[in-house]
Order: sequence, then structure tokens, then C-alpha cells
Amino acid sequence: MAKVIAIVSQKGGVGKTTTAVNLAAGLAREGKRMLLVEVDPQGAVAPSVGAATSAIRHTLLDCMGPAMVATGDAVLSTPLENVSLICAVHPDRDEELELERLAAAHPLALSEALQQVDSDYDLIVIDAPPTLGPLNRLCLAAADSFVVPVQAEEYSYRTLERLLRAVGEVQQHFNPGLFCEGLLLTMVDLRTRMSLRVVSQLHDNYGDMVMVAMVPRTVSVQDMPLKGKPTVIHAPNSRGGRAYTEVALELLVGYETEQLAELDAAEHSPRVVFQNPPMPSLGETTMISQFPSTASEPQAIETISLEQAAEEEEENSGDFAHQLYQIYADDDPDLSLN
Ligand code: ADP
Ligand code: MG
Repeated sequence: MAKVIAIVSQKGGVGKTTTAVNLAAGLAREGKRMLLVEVDPQGAVAPSVGAATSAIRHTLLDCMGPAMVATGDAVLSTPLENVSLICAVHPDRDEELELERLAAAHPLALSEALQQVDSDYDLIVIDAPPTLGPLNRLCLAAADSFVVPVQAEEYSYRTLERLLRAVGEVQQHFNPGLFCEGLLLTMVDLRTRMSLRVVSQLHDNYGDMVMVAMVPRTVSVQDMPLKGKPTVIHAPNSRGGRAYTEVALELLVGYETEQLAELDAAEHSPRVVFQNPPMPSLGETTMISQFPSTASEPQAIETISLEQAAEEEEENSGDFAHQLYQIYADDDPDLSLN
């Protein structure tokens, strides 16, 4: 059974499509059979993986709608090994409203459509549209877990609570096992005060929910649609390519752990279904104990008690953002806060 991960945020331009595409390509490079499912009718996925839209015979809409096309018939191959794609709608047809109506009437339509192909893939990545409406609910209802890209350039994380409420409703009505893989910081530029503040405040407010990997703002990522290839493929050694490889590996660890837990549970009947990974508990907080000298090196994360955190806070003068700045400034004497 494939694991389904939805990339969601009600905000546009935060890096959902970029993350979905690089995640699929990054995990495919690790040998996983990947299916990318585009639910955003903007159709930005196909050009980013170099898939020819002229080859589209059927779409997700055809599979979920009255045409009842078999899901396998909507799968497009891509030039990337181990990456297949289903497009939301035909690019030359005006089908956006129809897709939304269908999602409103049948919130489980995507979940059911994906069940038909889930033995063909290890993981399925859903690129969700920038809404909190029926299409977003459709994605969450079909997913095992979700990732929320958070752009480190504005206080976009302030709308996170609304998204997490929407998640709660989907859990309650359709998908009790749905869990959060993590909040992923995107477009991070630690030379700016804004990025420093967002990174710091997201860690302060959401602790363990923030992914260890974070994606810098770089040309190698921005260029992806122009190159027609995911960053992890066209520029694997760039800062962006390395960061997205880290994102993929971080999620791969979760996937492999779940696989092991399922195997273990199957061996020790009665069968226990893998439960949500632990969310940050009230008694714990997360501190970054070591910062990378470049954005691509992994950060070591350590969980400590609130009392310890309070003591360390007293010992260390200067706020988190300032500490981050100091570390980067040591590396780059020209760095200035602007
Ligand atoms: P969404 O799917 O949330 O609307 P996209 O993934 O399409 O967001 O990204 C929005 C824009 O920002 C695109 O032009 C994309 O190329 C660019 N972009 C995304 N991530 C980065 C990054 N890390 N560095 C530079 N540009 C980026
Ligand atoms: Mg998008």
C-alpha cells in the first residue's frame, strides 16, 4: 500500500508545487516508486517534471467524475525514472469549477481513485491548490500525512492555525489517522531580518512540528520550471538541490520507520496499525543545539524539558535570531542585516 503525502497550504506561492516535485524526484532517486498527483488545476507540475501535456488522455477529473475512468488510465509517464504523474484537468479545457464541484459533493473521491493504483507505488505525493475549500479537503481526506511549506519571507505562518483547524475537521469526519509530517521552511534567506524572525518564531511556536531540513531561496530552485526538471535532478549539488534532498531523506526516515512498525505489527498479531508520530507534548520544547555552517548541513535537534530550556534561556543572552545571525556572519563577513 502506498503512503500518500499531501503538500498543503491555503497560501499560494509558498513552494507547494516546488516541494511536491522535488520530493517525488528525491524519493525516486532513492529507489522509491513515486506517483505525483496534481490537484491544483493550475497545471504547474507537468512542466516541472518535463512531462508532455499533449500526452494527457485522461485526468484526475475523469477518474473521479461520472466518466469513471480507471485511475491507471490517467497515469502519465515522465522522463524521470520512477516518477509518474496524474494531471488534475486537461490543460486546454475549462474544468476548474467542475473539479471543485465534484470535490464538494464527494470528499472521498480522490481517496477512492488512488486506492485503485496504490499497489503500483511506494509513495504518492499530492500537490494541493492554494485554498481551504473542497479541493484542499479532498487532498487531506486522501492522505496519510501532510507537509505544510511555510515561506520564510512573511508572516504566512500566522494562517497556520486555520489550516490546522481544517485538518482537524477532516480528521474528525473522514480521516482519523491523518498526521502532520512537518512544517517546511521555504525560501529562507538568513541575510534578512524577516527570514531570521520567521525561522525563529516558527520554532518557538511549533517546536517539533518544524522539519529539520529547510529550503533556501536560490536561483537553482526558482529555475526549475524553466529547466523542466526538478532541482534535485538538474542541480543536485546546488544549495537548493541539497536542501530538497535533505527534505526527501527526512521524510524517507519516517516512511521506513512506519514500514518497519507495520511489519512488526503484522508479525505480532493482533495487527496494530501504525499510529501518528508523537506530537510535541506540553512538557517539552525543542531547541536547535547546533547550527549549520551552510544551509545544506543537517541541524542537530535536541529535545529538552521546559525547565532546562528556561535555564539555558537565562544563561544565553541574545535572542534566537541574533544567535543565528552570529553563526552566519562568522562564515560570511560581508553579511549584513537588512
Ligand atoms: P505554490 O505551489 O505554493 O503556489 P510554487 O512552488 O509554485 O508555490 O512557488 C512559487 C514561486 O516561487 C515559483 O515561481 C517558484 O519557482 C518560486 N520558488 C519556490 N521555492 C523557491 C526557492 N526556494 N527559491 C527561489 N524561488 C522559489
Ligand atoms: Mg502550486
